[in-house]
Amino acid sequence: MRLSLSINKRSLGFSIRNRKLEMKLAVLPGDGIGPEIVAQAIKVLKALNITDLSMTEAPIGGAGYEAFGDPLPDSTLQLAKESDAVLLGAVGDWKYDKLERQLRPERGLLRIRKELNLFANLRPALLYPELAGASTLKPEVVSGLDLMIIRELTGDIYFGQPRGISALENGEREGVNTMRYNESEIRRIGRVAFDIAMKRNKKVCSVDKANVLETTELWRQVMTELSAEYPEIELSHMYVDNAAMQLIRAPKQFDVIVTGNIFGDILSDEASMLTGSIGMLPSASLDTNKKGMYEPSHGSAPDIAGKDIANPLATILSVAMLLRYTFNDEANALKVENAVKKALAQGFRTADITTNGCKKVGCSAMGDAVLASL
Ligand code: NAD
Repeated sequence: MRLSLSINKRSLGFSIRNRKLEMKLAVLPGDGIGPEIVAQAIKVLKALNITDLSMTEAPIGGAGYEAFGDPLPDSTLQLAKESDAVLLGAVGDWKYDKLERQLRPERGLLRIRKELNLFANLRPALLYPELAGASTLKPEVVSGLDLMIIRELTGDIYFGQPRGISALENGEREGVNTMRYNESEIRRIGRVAFDIAMKRNKKVCSVDKANVLETTELWRQVMTELSAEYPEIELSHMYVDNAAMQLIRAPKQFDVIVTGNIFGDILSDEASMLTGSIGMLPSASLDTNKKGMYEPSHGSAPDIAGKDIANPLATILSVAMLLRYTFNDEANALKVENAVKKALAQGFRTADITTNGCKKVGCSAMGDAVLASL
């Protein structure tokens, strides 16, 4: 099958990249359960028989540190830059916690996002009806849930300068981080949110802490200005503390949530539990040309690594996002998503989403179940 060349000009508000037939995918399994879950996703991707797709594997995170003494080796970064998309497992392990900060696996992840200018993180939280019982919330609160959290990924307090830990004159230590956003960064992520909402239920909730933080007061002003360009969109604003509460109280009130890096980090993990397990949530991080890095929302789960019990569905669903957003191949994206639905409908469950009466399977058996349903 050749990849579709059709291009939707309104697609996500990103600029249109010249499509070529040959597509390059960098595969970065990373640490912990990363290699196990990525293997399942690759199995599914290969079964689609996409011609002119080349895949190259490289180490990142702890694996990068072990191989080259760097959580983001130059060769891995080079590969990622030359590729059309990156499929990532997860990075991190407690055994690296004592390394100096620059060498820790998580720095590799932050750096690759920054180097590739992946400013838009898309995290859908969708509850499959079969998993309503796996959520810790009442089925009537979560059933039918379908929300998209859009998190800015390259700015905010995670990157702002100055930062660091220093000694004060009185000998005490002080930690400093700086929350920063400029107008164009806010407008850029806002546009992604509005464009995505146009294809959904046309509601955007912008989350900030404008009552206390000037950075997010500017965020609110810019979002409000931008909304004038989207008269069909219903824009609302919510303080982050209220948003954290509303996500648990009545999550179905949301369609698209757009927020900054730190608030998005926390709220998207919270939203993951609405869907039953963090093992179900894919994510996409995109640049302005729809080059993307696709990864599950969860971490490397060192507690269950190597046991073949991790849930690979978030990574398999990340492949669906890869097909949709970078390869512009909606048909195969739907095929993968439907195969996941079918495997769940047939009762296959990994340990994290197991409920009574289901077939409990391991990571690779879940991959096989999706493969069989393709
Ligand atoms: P985590 O997401 O790795 O795990 C949290 C809990 O969820 C654990 O109990 C784990 O077993 C479970 N879990 C996660 N993914 C699962 C899956 N696919 N199937 C079944 N259960 C799953 O978060 P953590 O424990 O806070 O962090 C562990 C390591 O991962 C740390 O080193 C952290 O820095 C790193 N981390 C990496 C990323 C990333 O690579 N994007 C994100 C978050 C954390």
